[in-house]
Amino acid sequence: MRFLCPNCGQDQEILLDRKPWCLVCHIEMISATDYSKVWMSPYFAIARLQKIAETHGTKRALTEGRFKKEREAVATAFLAFALSKLGGEKFYIEIETADNTPDIKLHHIDQSSGHNNIKTRSVEVVDWEEHVPDIMEVIRKKCSRPYPDYYFLLVSARYAGRFINFANICDEMKTIQSPFLETWVTGFSGINKLAVARVAPGLLEFSLDYWDELQNAKQQPEIVRRGIRGTGTEFYPLGPSFLPLPGD
Ligand SMILES: [Zn+2]
Repeated sequence: MRFLCPNCGQDQEILLDRKPWCLVCHIEMISATDYSKVWMSPYFAIARLQKIAETHGTKRALTEGRFKKEREAVATAFLAFALSKLGGEKFYIEIETADNTPDIKLHHIDQSSGHNNIKTRSVEVVDWEEHVPDIMEVIRKKCSRPYPDYYFLLVSARYAGRFINFANICDEMKTIQSPFLETWVTGFSGINKLAVARVAPGLLEFSLDYWDELQNAKQQPEIVRRGIRGTGTEFYPLGPSFLPLPGD
């Protein structure tokens, strides 16, 4: 199992000891967690892909299959920014590890009834990449497969420099038999400008300042984990934690 010293940052594979101490700092090391049951803030998800880009280069971070989950989490973070504009909720991202679908679960805690209710959106993320001229090709292909009717489809426009007309996509969506509850598109529309739109059912467009959104999202605890106490569902920050990046 992998352990990290929270003080010196030493990262080691340790086989037998379940509670190892750092030999240099004489403090207990933190064991690695994986994505299961971990909720990440949108900021944390974005910062992780940033770290991957710093380590492996931007091109690899944005194209290699081993970083796909992290890219999907970032696309979902952008969706979370837009959804927060509607209801002010604080969203958390869970990367699905056990099942093939959905790719991501987007959670928030609804306290309108006086106690904590977890509300979850199941999100399928699909990339729209350079070699496909028409975004509708990507959407049609996805819509031809069976999905539960409560799933969201999120199209991540992966390259800059192409104008996206959300109103046109919205019109085309009316001619498609879609299994999805809602379909969204996200991408950068300029430096620090994030465009996020719901294209079905009905058009809802958001033009967001990327840096402002990042600063906002930074206020949330980075990782939380669910715990059950009494009858309620409690969430607590995971505290110092070690979630190794893929490819490290
Ligand atoms: Zn140490």
